[in-house]
Amino acid sequence: QAKLEPQSSYRVFLPEMKAEKDDQLQLEAEMRAGMERGEFELYYQPIYGTASGAIRSFEALVRWNHPTRGLVPPLDFIPLAESSGLIVRLGRMILSEACKVAATWPKPIGIAVNLSPVQFKDAHLVDYVEQALAESGLAPGRLDLEITESLLLEASHRVQSAMTRLRALGVRITMDDFGTGFSSLSNLRNFSFDRLKIDRSFTRDVAASLEDAEIVRTIVRLSRALRMETILEGVETESQLTFARLEGLTEVQGYYYAKAMRADAVAALIAESSQFVELSVTASAA
Ligand code: C2E
Ligand code: MG
Ligand code: MG
Ligand code: MG
Repeated sequence: QAKLEPQSSYRVFLPEMKAEKDDQLQLEAEMRAGMERGEFELYYQPIYGTASGAIRSFEALVRWNHPTRGLVPPLDFIPLAESSGLIVRLGRMILSEACKVAATWPKPIGIAVNLSPVQFKDAHLVDYVEQALAESGLAPGRLDLEITESLLLEASHRVQSAMTRLRALGVRITMDDFGTGFSSLSNLRNFSFDRLKIDRSFTRDVAASLEDAEIVRTIVRLSRALRMETILEGVETESQLTFARLEGLTEVQGYYYAKAMRADAVAALIAESSQFVELSVTASAA
């Protein structure tokens, strides 16, 4: 239970770890200050309907505009934000900002927000989600929360109840990076997801490797039977897109279409795109 709470866990400390530890404390202090100064910014990557080719949602991806280090990618600070617990406050800011921005879009396009398992340690997570929706006026069916399998490993009472309450709000739940964690099919039975996002590592070789292609095909078949949509993540090439079309994946996301972009670029992209597919809000809420 306390596994992810850094204060409560012992660490064996070797002298050579001291420098690293100092660096971490320094970075942590900078993160705190950066949050105060508004240095964290959400970028948005479009997710397209495979059949229609229209944008169905955007995934919010956080970056840090660091005063001296430049634009820092999330993998360089999310782990520290998680181990220090700062992710709770940062995550709350992200939720609130993403909903606020999406509510300004002229079409009912979805917004996907990544949730760290550490955020589920916080008893107020669901309240924050509810608050972000209320403050922004965003329809709950437009918010998609992306979680990873590691969250479900412990399947604690707290996680279970948070998931149930989130579903009751009417938001959608996506399992992110599917296939890389400790995938257990019982997760798919015990938790109902609206979407499965197939990890980029499968996408990479899907057009070249018969094995990877068959794995994705099987996931799609399973998803369909369980009434979940499927997203192929990390689509970079025409042949990967063709594969997604042929195999009936619902949505695609990747550099083939666009990288994550700033909010103003999103507004421009939406303005110039004429066709949008209405969200097919699944009947799984509550
Ligand atoms: P993720 O949620 O799986 O996000 C997808 C990552 O793949 C993003 O990297 C995206 O820019 C990248 N990507 C998308 N399409 C392609 C492609 O075609 N090729 C390649 N090579 N990469 C592609 P990013 O933005 O660096 O984020 C990395 C991870 O950091 C995310 O993985 C997510 O786990 C975490 N993260 C990002 N933003 C947040 C956030 O707001 N909260 C939390 N808790 N985690 C976040
Ligand atoms: Mg994600
Ligand atoms: Mg992912
Ligand atoms: Mg990933």
